[in-house]
Amino acid sequence: MASPARLTVLAGPSAVGKDTVAADVRARFPQVWLSVSATTRPPRPGELQGVNYHFVADDEFDRMVADGELLEWAVVHGVYRYGTPRKPVIDHLATGDPALLVIDLQGARQVRASMPEARFVFLAPPSWDELVRRLVGRGTEGEAERERRLASARVELAAEAEFDHVIVNDDVHRATEELVAVMGLDGPPVRDGAAG
Ligand code: 5GP
Repeated sequence: MASPARLTVLAGPSAVGKDTVAADVRARFPQVWLSVSATTRPPRPGELQGVNYHFVADDEFDRMVADGELLEWAVVHGVYRYGTPRKPVIDHLATGDPALLVIDLQGARQVRASMPEARFVFLAPPSWDELVRRLVGRGTEGEAERERRLASARVELAAEAEFDHVIVNDDVHRATEELVAVMGLDGPPVRDGAAG
C-alpha cells in the first residue's frame, strides 16, 4: 500500500475517462478535493460554471496568466487554453486533505517542475482502437475537434513513461481502485511532511 499523497496529478489522453475516474474517487472519498480548472473553451450542454470549469473569456485568461494566478496552463488540442488556479491548490494542500488535478500532459510537466513531490499518474486506454471508440461514442466533439484530440492523444501516449504510475482504464471501478491505492487513500491519514 502506498503512503498517502497530498497532491496527485492525473493525466492521459482525451476520452480515456479521467473525469469519470476522478468522480468515482470523489464518490468513495469525498475528502479528496478536485481542482476546478479555468478554460477558454465554451461550456458543453449540462456543464456548469464553477463546477466543471471556470469558463472565462480570452482576456480574463490573459489576466490570470499575467498575474501569476495559474499553477500551470496550456493550449490543449491546439485551440483552447486550460489552467489550474494556484491559490485553491495551495489552500487545500494546507488543510491536509488530498488534492487531485486532472490535466493534460503539458500541464503535468509544469507541475512536476514546480511540485516534484506530487504523485504523477497516467490513465491509459486498453488500446488505441478503444480510445477512438470512446471519443467517437461520446459524441461531444465534431469531426475536426475529434481529429485534433486524436493527434494530441498520440503525443500523450508516447509520454506515458514519464509518469510514476500507469493505470489502464479497462474498467472504471477497477481503475479507480488502483488510483485509490496509488493515492494511499485506503491507508492512514496524511501526516505533516508526508508530501509524496
Ligand atoms: P475537455 O475540453 O474535454 O474538458 O478537456 C480537454 C483536455 O484539457 C483534457 O484532456 C483535460 O485533461 C485537459 N485539462 C483540463 N483542465 C486542465 C488544466 O487546468 N490544465 C491543463 N494543462 N489541462 C487541462
